[in-house]
Amino acid sequence: MKPIKENIQTNSVCVLGIGFDQNSSFQKGPALAPNRIRESYFSSSSNLWSEKGLDLGSLHLLYDLGDIVFKTNADPFNQITSSAKVVLDQGNHMICLGGDHSITFPVIKAYAQKYDSLNILHLDAHPDLYDSLDGNIYSHACPFARIMEKKLAKRLVQAGIRTMTGHQREQAKKFGVEVKEMKDGMDWLDELEFDGPVYLSLDLDCLDPAFAPGVSHHEPGGMTTRQVIDIIHRLKGKIVGADIVEYNPDRDFGSMTSMVAAKLLKEIIARIHEDTI
Ligand code: MN
Ligand code: MN
Repeated sequence: MKPIKENIQTNSVCVLGIGFDQNSSFQKGPALAPNRIRESYFSSSSNLWSEKGLDLGSLHLLYDLGDIVFKTNADPFNQITSSAKVVLDQGNHMICLGGDHSITFPVIKAYAQKYDSLNILHLDAHPDLYDSLDGNIYSHACPFARIMEKKLAKRLVQAGIRTMTGHQREQAKKFGVEVKEMKDGMDWLDELEFDGPVYLSLDLDCLDPAFAPGVSHHEPGGMTTRQVIDIIHRLKGKIVGADIVEYNPDRDFGSMTSMVAAKLLKEIIARIHEDTI
């Protein structure tokens, strides 16, 4: 990634930081995530090659847009949507670094204006389908309820899920969400195929806390890092955008989780580059 010095060329992969965690229900912290993930991305303990052999350091169409600077007198979600819209209107693809998971709703608002038949693959321990949590309909536990009730996606597939409640099961049914629960294994990866553009929303707690402890909600029984990389590599569909959310540096141990986030970021950049450029 290189910081923007000039006008970005169209058809680029752009990384945008959204350090916003005001809708976290349990612990704050993800506001600090974007720069920690960047530090791990560039850490000299690793290199900038994707596993499939792309030298990310040599890409000319890869830009780091920095972080959204939130103005205190404006609605943060509107600022997120308008920032995302500028990037997409320029004909670019975007990977957002959260932030808590509430940021996905305003990001998808921008994507839905560009793609009228958007698919979403959502990896998470939690379905995030609550109608409201603690009186907040924009909680990080609610973004996919907002996305589906506004019909911003034609298809939503969730995987990694292991915290379904009765209410969220009803919500999934109401919105026609396809839920691949962790208890049912990972065979879905070979069977799943998307027709049209796919947005990948990656909550780091889809991983087992053994692999990614730096998240606010530890939910045992999750995916391995290798399983998430396999999904990024093998998913049948064209990935046009992604987010990596819920990294909480306050809960991390020696950058262990930010290295996982940076590794997944590298593989997602390579996949989007392969699919779209
Ligand atoms: Mn989530
Ligand atoms: Mn989660």
